[in-house]
Amino acid sequence: MTDTLFQKIIDREIPAEVLYEDEFSLAFKDINPVAPHHVLIIPKKNIPKISDAELEDRALLGHLMYVAGEVARELGIEDAFRLVVNNGADAQQTVFHLHIHLIAGRPFTWPPG
Ligand code: AMP
Repeated sequence: MTDTLFQKIIDREIPAEVLYEDEFSLAFKDINPVAPHHVLIIPKKNIPKISDAELEDRALLGHLMYVAGEVARELGIEDAFRLVVNNGADAQQTVFHLHIHLIAGRPFTWPPG
């Protein structure tokens, strides 16, 4: 199986602006930001999409949410940000390595598009 784009970022085969890294996760700036702040938080384990996560992944999924909050604090945007997970091609997922979008720095509307 060929590596996903994000696996190549984890392996430092392609560059990214990394903001946070630990044993289980990596956070880096989105190359095509949709807001002044746009960060992707990914697990180092390749779970293609959130609906592929298994019971044993529960702690890892929680950890990713913790990292999102930590990165938001580091960026000083902890009072207003949005987390988005696109699951599946019809939900606009384009990279099949689970990722949480952390976006902030502009007004948001609800419901999202
Ligand atoms: P999604 O559409 O939810 O799968 O999100 C994939 C995201 O990955 C998009 O927001 C892209 O802009 C972003 N992206 C694609 N290639 C790169 C890259 N080389 N470095 C950082 N972000 C990327």
